[in-house]
Amino acid sequence: MKADINIKLKTVLFVEAGEKMKYKLASQGIIKLSDAVLSVFNEYRQLEKGDAEAGGTLLGRFILESSDIVIDKVTVPMERDIRKRCYFKRNREDHQKVVYSIWEESRGTCNYLGEWHTHPEPHPTPSSHDLKEWEKVLENTVYDAEELFFLIIGTKSIGVWVGNKASLKIKKLTRC
Ligand SMILES: [Zn+2]
Repeated sequence: MKADINIKLKTVLFVEAGEKMKYKLASQGIIKLSDAVLSVFNEYRQLEKGDAEAGGTLLGRFILESSDIVIDKVTVPMERDIRKRCYFKRNREDHQKVVYSIWEESRGTCNYLGEWHTHPEPHPTPSSHDLKEWEKVLENTVYDAEELFFLIIGTKSIGVWVGNKASLKIKKLTRC
C-alpha cells in the first residue's frame, strides 16, 4: 500500500556541508551522509523556539570492495510520532513500513542502519534517555550488520555515534 506511506525524500542540496560530512568508522572506512539526507536534516533543525524534535530511521548502503557506508535515505516525522520540544518518539510500525518498502524497492541493497533525531542545542550530546533507547534498539532490532548508527542533529553540527550489537557499547565518531 505505497499510497499510505508518508515518505518525503527531499532532493534539495545542502550546500554548506556537502563533501565534508564524513566520519571515521571505528574499525576502518568511513560513513558518509549524502547531500539529500543532509538537506532533510537541515530542514528539521530546531532553529526556532517553538520547533519540536524530529527524527526517524537511517537507511543506506555498504559500498562494494570497501569498508565505507553511505547513508542516503531517511524516514522523516510522521503523523503518529510523538514530537515535543525535547522529546521524540517515532511510531515503530509506520517507520518500519517505509524502511521495508525502501529495502524492497532497492532489492535489498538499501538497509536499515539506525536512528536519527534533532536536539535544540548547537552541538548535540545524547541524553541518558537517548542512550537507554539506543541500547534498546541495539538489543531488539533485527538487522544484518554488527553495528548501528545514531545521529543527533543539532542546530550547528551533527553528532554521530555507533553502537555495537554484541557489546552494546556506544562510541562517538569523529569527522574526517
Ligand atoms: Zn535526544
